[in-house]
Formats: sequence, structure tokens, C-alpha cells
Amino acid sequence: MTQRDDDKNEPKAADPFAGLTIDFGGGDSANGNSGGPVSFGAPIAFNAPPTAVELPRAKRPGAGGPNDGGDRDEHRTKLLIIGSGPAGLTAAIYASRANLEPIVLAGVVPGGQLMITSDVENYPGFPEGILGPELMAKFREQAERFGSRIYDVDVERVDFSERPFRIWARGIEYRADSVVVATGASALWLGLESETRLRGRGVSACATCDGFFFRDKEIAVVGGGDTALEEATYLTRFASKVHLLHRRDSFRASKIMVDRAYDNPKIEVHTNISVEEVLGGAKVEGLRLRNIATNDLTDVPMEGLFIAIGYRPNTEVFRDWLDVDEKGYLVVHDETGSKVDGVFIAGDVHDHRYRQAVTAAGDGCKAAIDAERWLEAQGISEATTATAW
Ligand code: NDP
Repeated sequence: MTQRDDDKNEPKAADPFAGLTIDFGGGDSANGNSGGPVSFGAPIAFNAPPTAVELPRAKRPGAGGPNDGGDRDEHRTKLLIIGSGPAGLTAAIYASRANLEPIVLAGVVPGGQLMITSDVENYPGFPEGILGPELMAKFREQAERFGSRIYDVDVERVDFSERPFRIWARGIEYRADSVVVATGASALWLGLESETRLRGRGVSACATCDGFFFRDKEIAVVGGGDTALEEATYLTRFASKVHLLHRRDSFRASKIMVDRAYDNPKIEVHTNISVEEVLGGAKVEGLRLRNIATNDLTDVPMEGLFIAIGYRPNTEVFRDWLDVDEKGYLVVHDETGSKVDGVFIAGDVHDHRYRQAVTAAGDGCKAAIDAERWLEAQGISEATTATAW
């Protein structure tokens, strides 16, 4: 520390604030109007060497576990998350911020249902709306920023009979002290042979992925829920005409989405209609439609078909270990728990009531906090600050 010459003989216990005056007169310093003087009794020595103070160093919370340091095992973790939709990646954000360095087995088609969702207008924080894939890219970036290890592989098998739990993906065995299952639900198909044959040749379940290919074409969307109405509206950006085909005369979709479709001059809504066949050899050329009221069949020319009829929960690999309900969704115990101690559940894989990105994200947060507390209780991870999430 440098000292002013005239201070050299001052007593050592001088008031450290001597000479400091601060005016609280309320002036606007941003405009150069400070309203009064601010002066410091001693000059500030910018080139002063750091003071040599030795403080005891705290061990970083979470250090010393199997995943710490350069010798960490890439297939061993305290917490493994299966799924990479809003639930899985929110769990990853929370778990990685708690220094758990989670492994995320994201699936070969990562990102969940939002990857096949166009404009998301109800996710808080995006007043102008955001495209589903863009939102998921942000989730992933945030999870990776805090140390999540994300692998784009499908889980083929699990063994939850003992801990560490064992999970296999692309032939590799992963071991985890705890697991969050967030595998979501997948799009349903009509189940027609012609639909399968022409998938990727005019038949799609993803408007954001494929809409671009239908510029100035006449296309149809099947379904009467929010997905179908949203996709139909989105596809009007490209298509010359979008026919919305619904098998009943009332809609599951929210009123605002139905009104928007009816108001859109590019959308024609057809109720009491079912798709009996997709017509065409190398690509979609038409549809065979049944009028459910009269049973009449009609062939109509059409250049594309988007299927938007709901979802099936992705629970197959867990059925030997976890409870499922009559619709095939996982059953949760006590918010995020399962019947296996240390296995937690989040998102659409159990929730067929709300099924929203924001509720799935909230679920992922809860599952990560519960997993972290469970690991702590087992003595597997060190206590973090309870409020440090
Ligand atoms: P839904 O289950 O709500 O709707 C599925 C629709 O497909 C129903 O209208 C159903 O008809 C119809 N359908 C089902 N099977 C067939 C079939 N074999 N042939 C013809 N039609 C069929 O699923 P969604 O995917 O639309 O929505 C799922 C959830 O996600 C909902 O809770 C929805 O609110 C939410 N969501 C929210 C969005 C948003 O807020 N931005 C966007 C998208 C979805 P029927 O009515 O006769 O059963």
C-alpha cells in the first residue's frame, strides 16, 4: 500500500474513512450532476500488490465423488436422466448446478415433443413466442453450460433391481446412484399401411420439420386437439390451402386455437371426416376420406398429410420395474417418486393431464431437487446449500 508523504507520521489506528465525504443529496450522477462532492482522503493504489492473507480453503461441495476430477468415469454418475424434453433438461440444469455432473441419455431424436412443435406462445419469458426447436436448443445449452454430459442415444434396457442402477444404451452400460425418468410421450399415427409407406414422402407428424417442403401446396392436417390446430395454423405460412380434418364435430383444442383456425382464410375446417387411405405411389397425391355421418367415401387430391392425433407415453423399457396406469403412463408416488427408491419421474411420461412444456419443466426441477436430497440422505452427495438452486 502506498502512503501519502504527509501521512507517514500519522498514528497507525487512523480512521480508515478519514477524509471521505459522500453527499446523499440525491443528485443524478448519470447526467454529471452529482449534487455535491464525493472525495476520498487517501489515493487508491491501483498497482498495489495483493495482501498476503491466508484463509482456510473450503472443499468444493460435491468434490471427491466418483465423477470428480480428470479421472471421472464417463459411464458412472450419481444421477442419470433419461429423456431430453423440458422435464429432462430442466432436471439436468438443476442437477448440474448442484455439482452432480448428471449424465443425460437424450434419445436419438433429442429434445422431445417441442422439436415437432412450431410456435410456442405460452412458455413464460417469450412474449413474442418462440419456435419449439429453438427453445429446446436453449434448454440444452443451459444444461451443458453447468456440466451436464448429454449423449444422444436411446435407452434399450434398465435394471433397477439394485443400486447402482444399470442402464444400457447403444450397447454401453451406464451405472447411476439415482435416475430421473423423463422420456415423455411420442406422436401417434393413424396406423394405415399407406401412411407408413408414404412417411417422409408427403406424410409427416412434424410441421416445423417439414412445413417448408409444402410451399404453395394443398395439404391436410388430421386431428382436433391443440396440436392439430396449431400445426394447421403454422402450415398456412407455406401451403396454399390447409384442410383440417377432424373425426367429430367438437374440438378438444382450446377455443382460441379453434377460432383462429376458422378465422384463417387459408384453413378449411372439415368435421365428421376420417382418413381411410393415403393415395399415391412415390409421394402423396390424394386422400380417401369417409364422411362419418353418411359413411360416403370420397377421393380428393392432396399433396401432403400431417398427422396430429395425440401421443403415447414412452414407458416400454420401464414396465418391469415401475408402475404404469391403464393408459400406460408411469405412476408417481409422493410428487416425483416411483416405487423404486432412488428412481424419480418427471414430465409427460406420467402427466396426461397438463402436458405442457412449462409443467414438464417444473416437474424436472422437482425431480432433480428430490433426487439431490435423496442422494444427500444416502450420503452419496455432500450437502449443498438448500437454496443454491
Ligand atoms: P389430444 O389428445 O388433445 O387430441 C388428439 C386429437 O386427435 C383429438 O381431437 C382426437 O379426436 C384425434 N384423434 C385421436 N386418434 C385419432 C385417430 N385415430 N383418427 C383421427 N383422429 C384421432 O392431443 P394433442 O396432441 O392435440 O394435445 C395433447 C396435449 O398437449 C393437450 O393437453 C394440448 O392442450 C397440449 N398442447 C398444447 C399446446 C399449446 O398450448 N401450445 C400445443 C399442442 C398441444 P377426438 O377428439 O375425437 O378424440
